[in-house]
Amino acid sequence: MPPFVYEEEIIMIQDCIFCKIAVGLIPCTKVYEDDDVLAFLDIGQATTGHTLVISKKHYPNFLATPKSIMHKVYDVAQKIGQAQIQTLGARGVNVLSNCYKEAGQSIPHFHVHVIPRYEPADGFRIEMYENVHIGELNLPVLASKISKGIKE
Ligand code: 5GP
Ligand code: ZN
Repeated sequence: MPPFVYEEEIIMIQDCIFCKIAVGLIPCTKVYEDDDVLAFLDIGQATTGHTLVISKKHYPNFLATPKSIMHKVYDVAQKIGQAQIQTLGARGVNVLSNCYKEAGQSIPHFHVHVIPRYEPADGFRIEMYENVHIGELNLPVLASKISKGIKE
C-alpha cells in the first residue's frame, strides 16, 4: 500500500459521480451545503433518511483526505445525525465510511454514511462476528504493530 498522499490539487475527477453531484452536473436531494461539504440523501436508502456527507473536492476516501476537510465532513455528519434523531424520530445513528473496495467502498470519493436507526427493527444490520479467535492472536504484539504505524 503506498503512503497516503493528499491530492490537494485535484478538484474534480471527470468520471466520478460524486464530483459531478458536487458541481451540480448530476442532481441530488440536498440536505446541507457549505463551501467544502455537501450532504444529500443516498439513492439507496438503507433506512429512511440515510444521508451521505461528502467533501466537495475529490479525495479517494477518509484515509486519504486532509485533516482539515475530514474534520469538516465529520462535523456535518454529527449535525446530521443529531437532526435525524430530532426530526425523524430515529432512536440511533450509524456513522461509517468505507475505505477501498476491499472494505465495500463503491464510489472512490470520500463520503460518510449517516444512517438513522429506528425501533422496532428497521432491517439494517451491521454485524461484527468474531472471525478470528482471540486465542490465536498475540494481542500485545498486534497492538504494538498498529501503535508503531501511527503518524503524527
Ligand atoms: P459506498 O458503497 O462507496 O460506501 O457508498 C456509496 C453510496 O453511494 C451507496 O450507498 C449508493 O447507494 C450511493 N450512490 C451511488 N450513486 C449515487 C447517486 O447517483 N446518487 C446518490 N444520491 N447516491 C448514490
Ligand atoms: Zn470525485
